[in-house]
Amino acid sequence: MTVFDGGPSRASWIPRSHNHAGFPEGIPGNELLARMRSQAEHYGATILAARVGCVTRQDGNFTVSYAGGEASARAILFATGVVNRRPPIAEDDHQPALDSGTLRYCPICDGYEVTGKRVAVLGSNTHGVAEALFLRTYSDDVTLLTLVKSDLDRSDRAALDKAGIAVETTAASSFEFGKPHARVRLADGRDFAFDTLYPALGSDVNDELLVPFGLKQAGDKSVITDSHMRLGIVGLYAVGDLVRGLDQISVAMGQAAIAATAIHNDLRERDGETLERK
Ligand SMILES: Cc1cc2nc3c(=O)[nH]c(=O)nc-3n(C[C@H](O)[C@H](O)[C@H](O)COP(=O)(O)OP(=O)(O)OC[C@H]3O[C@@H](n4cnc5c(N)ncnc54)[C@H](O)[C@@H]3O)c2cc1C
Repeated sequence: MTVFDGGPSRASWIPRSHNHAGFPEGIPGNELLARMRSQAEHYGATILAARVGCVTRQDGNFTVSYAGGEASARAILFATGVVNRRPPIAEDDHQPALDSGTLRYCPICDGYEVTGKRVAVLGSNTHGVAEALFLRTYSDDVTLLTLVKSDLDRSDRAALDKAGIAVETTAASSFEFGKPHARVRLADGRDFAFDTLYPALGSDVNDELLVPFGLKQAGDKSVITDSHMRLGIVGLYAVGDLVRGLDQISVAMGQAAIAATAIHNDLRERDGETLERK
């Protein structure tokens, strides 16, 4: 088995996850990734640090093209994930902002860590509203910010007012992250300080390898699989954030277990190795 690893995983951004089972003191994302790589290699996987340029199919087999050459495969599992849209800050400032805890992306992963703190959510569409309402269960000091001057629709506004969430409709123009605060300046010159800011700006799905296969995609472009993580083309499977559903490491791992079993059994069937059912 060959794993093509095209660069930083979203998990590598996690300063320390406290919600991954088996690590009561938490574990940094990069340490978890290193442990998983070493486990995969220990059991025979080859890990290539290479980005795949394209996948083509011929006679039921696949050719994987990457900068170092080509590889052939009978089955491919896509776990290419998504990329979060970021607030406008310099690339070099991004990881320190995450490490300081003043910038976070995953309320379902670490919302409890901001319990009782001053929290901002950046993004005024339905997604931003939903995220602000979700975080309101952890803190009674939540502010919804926007990157573009916005007018919320009446029902969103009513839900936010009912929950006691402050709303700033003037666009935010600059951001600074670092202990102890996330500092935000609005276009009208007002300054705010928060303990944490969660961008709710959506994400871009890494689906470029799949597009040529014309697969079923949800509205946000995440892919749709059957219950065995099959993509509807013999030999193609997908798991993780790429697939429509909850974006969590444990979910990706569970889906990977289902996909691995399906790949094993589907290949046996293609090879005529399955027992005939009576
Ligand atoms: C700040 C932050 C904190 C989080 N905290 C938690 C947490 O505490 N608990 C939790 O469960 N989840 C957490 N998450 C979510 C978690 O990181 C993701 O759900 C998880 O990483 C998804 O795994 P994945 O394999 O689908 O995608 P990823 O981990 O993002 O991996 C996708 C990989 O595919 C590679 N790739 C893409 N295209 C190609 C290509 N063409 N060729 C080769 N490789 C390619 C990418 O380089 C990347 O390495 C957090 C996310 C963020 C951003």
